[in-house]
Amino acid sequence: MRSMFPDFPRITAALFTPTPVNSLLAVARARGRIPAMKILVIEDEKKSALYLEKGLRETGYEVDVAEQGDVGLKMALDNEYDLIVLDVMLPGRDGWSVMADLRKAGRTTPVLFLTARDTVDDRVKGLELGADDYLVKPFAFSELLARIRSVLRRNPQRQPELVKVGDLELDLFKQRAARAGKKLELTPKEFSLLSLLARRSGEVLSRNIIAEQVWDMNFESDTNVVDVHVRRLRSKLDDPYENKLIHTVRGVGYVLNEQA
Ligand code: CA
Repeated sequence: MRSMFPDFPRITAALFTPTPVNSLLAVARARGRIPAMKILVIEDEKKSALYLEKGLRETGYEVDVAEQGDVGLKMALDNEYDLIVLDVMLPGRDGWSVMADLRKAGRTTPVLFLTARDTVDDRVKGLELGADDYLVKPFAFSELLARIRSVLRRNPQRQPELVKVGDLELDLFKQRAARAGKKLELTPKEFSLLSLLARRSGEVLSRNIIAEQVWDMNFESDTNVVDVHVRRLRSKLDDPYENKLIHTVRGVGYVLNEQA
């Protein structure tokens, strides 16, 4: 959406005040409960770069900024980003060249490119070079966020698809779990619970954290729900096997571990 106002960043920033849910998410991420998505912004205009950085941080993303194409390319090659917001018009090495070299190096990091020139040629060129989406400047921050979310949804490969702990195997996308090659018949909640414990294997998770992550709610008053589900999960996951994977840590919570 093109803004008719010359001072669009101020206006859209005002429109985009993080909702309480966003803030909570940002807090949860800051506490390391949910790994934040990492975004690299390559943009030479200081004001836009700052504005993007601030807005994305407030939304809960981790953000790095590069003001030059060369620097940005090096950062993109040296680090693992979930997404790159790439301005086309950069001094020195331009956005096209950054994207071409990134793909040449075999990196599949999703790229959302920003172009000031609303021409079909630009868009075609960007998409041919391997960009995932584009935005024409000026744009509203809410639109950028929507595009980022849609690109991230289409590119879930950065999340590990398969999680293995000992003889336990989880396919997060097919929502399937197997132990010693034998399929486990789990309810969706049991699967989420198992996938949380397995993804954070070795880490003791409190009942509150489990309740928050699996049920999206605060069960402070009744974490019994967690115990009941863990018991059911154990009956399927551990009861038939000698080696138990889920362990109770008294007074704290649960941990999934290969070793007892
Ligand atoms: Ca620029």
